[in-house]
Amino acid sequence: MKILLIQPKMNMRPMDTKLKTRMSPSLALLTLAKLTPPSHQIKIVNENIEKINFNESVDLVAITVTVDVFPRAIEIASEFRKRGVTVIAGGIHITAVPNESVPYFDAICVGVAERVWQRILTDKENNSLQKIYKDTEDLKGGETCSPDYKVVDPKKYLYTNIISTSRGCPHKCDFCYNSCINSVKYINRPIDDVVADIMALKTKHIMFIDDNFIGNPNWTREFLLCIKPLNLKWNAAVTVNILNHLDLLDLMKKTGCQSLFIGFETINANSLKSVHKNQNNIEKYDTLIREIHSRGIMINGSIVFGLPEDDESIFENTLNWLVQSRIETVTAHILTPYPGTVLHKDMLTKKQIKDFNLSHYNTAHVVFEHEKLTAKQLYDRYIWFYKEFYSIKNILRRIPEDKAQRVSFLLFNFLYRKYGKFTEILSSLVPLNLLGKIAEHFSYFKGGRKQSVEIYNTAYSNSNNNSCPL
Ligand code: SF4
Repeated sequence: MKILLIQPKMNMRPMDTKLKTRMSPSLALLTLAKLTPPSHQIKIVNENIEKINFNESVDLVAITVTVDVFPRAIEIASEFRKRGVTVIAGGIHITAVPNESVPYFDAICVGVAERVWQRILTDKENNSLQKIYKDTEDLKGGETCSPDYKVVDPKKYLYTNIISTSRGCPHKCDFCYNSCINSVKYINRPIDDVVADIMALKTKHIMFIDDNFIGNPNWTREFLLCIKPLNLKWNAAVTVNILNHLDLLDLMKKTGCQSLFIGFETINANSLKSVHKNQNNIEKYDTLIREIHSRGIMINGSIVFGLPEDDESIFENTLNWLVQSRIETVTAHILTPYPGTVLHKDMLTKKQIKDFNLSHYNTAHVVFEHEKLTAKQLYDRYIWFYKEFYSIKNILRRIPEDKAQRVSFLLFNFLYRKYGKFTEILSSLVPLNLLGKIAEHFSYFKGGRKQSVEIYNTAYSNSNNNSCPL
């Protein structure tokens, strides 16, 4: 069969440039490519980069779906189905709300694809396709499939060096996909498999795009000891629990950790409590930041505005704290009730959700009624926060004390965030992977860090192999 694997066009936030959409390929689609027997022909189309040819002669279309592209996925499916092509959908949003998804596609894949993809292909060939293929049973680490990196055209992306070492997360914060009924149980992949992926990428720089790189600290310790001789540079996402494992933080530094993405989410303790992000303790944030910075590791902090206990003061207080703490980069979001999560159920019960257009669910829209903030206040102050955090004055105030980090810090704060439009124009003139390599070269060889945490986080959210929305 000729199979088309599609990543629909995403909805950019006001502060994003096209670079965000071309940061890295979808690991979900690369995994499907690897799972497909060679007797079939595979083509991947990323709608953020290229147009979909609806008249292309194909036997099967598979679409990976995150919440904000769901409306577009429906349009794509409708076009192909009109032409008699079978369309299957899977991914995080489909898994979170299968019943709402099922009417729009010939079949849906709920949960992990590893154990059902082959059956889907056989059923399609035998004209016996089922409506729902569900595999939410515990996947064993050894059953996870490595992505097929060979099918990626590196010229289309800034970075292709993305690897997932695990699935899921041991925590279940209310706003996160890990709180969904169908979420996968946390597992680590076999260390040998991850090392094989690293070797396949033929690079010395890796972005680990797990929901939580330290979900099982013993596994992480063993893994890092194993990759130590490889002399890598790497980035990952961890929870604040890293403060309980300072030996692991030491090992991270020794094995080439450049930056860590951390979900602080808020500096309001009651807000944290209200969404059951119980592992976070605001009183320990400053110690945590000191411990990480003292090891020469940069931080990309995740912040959420619009949590239940927030009021007008949260924006300025958060900005001041982040600037004083010299957090290198920030990814901020407006609280968004992703369908299927505990937060979504809770807001539905309270009749708080006012906007059901899922294309707005990209964490840059206010889709619910907040008790203390109007939608305009929440949106305007969110935009204000971004502008202020990446203002020249505040970029300069946040310059790392560690001189070795400064080139990388300045490059990415200015070229990616502050003057991203200029970089976007540059990216249309130079092959993207070359731009990525130039950025790496400057930050690595001029005494700075090799990779920006912001880049890491974008790859993390683009890959849609993960379930952490924030
Ligand atoms: S928000 Fe982060 S810590 Fe919480 S469940 Fe999701 S991945 Fe885990």
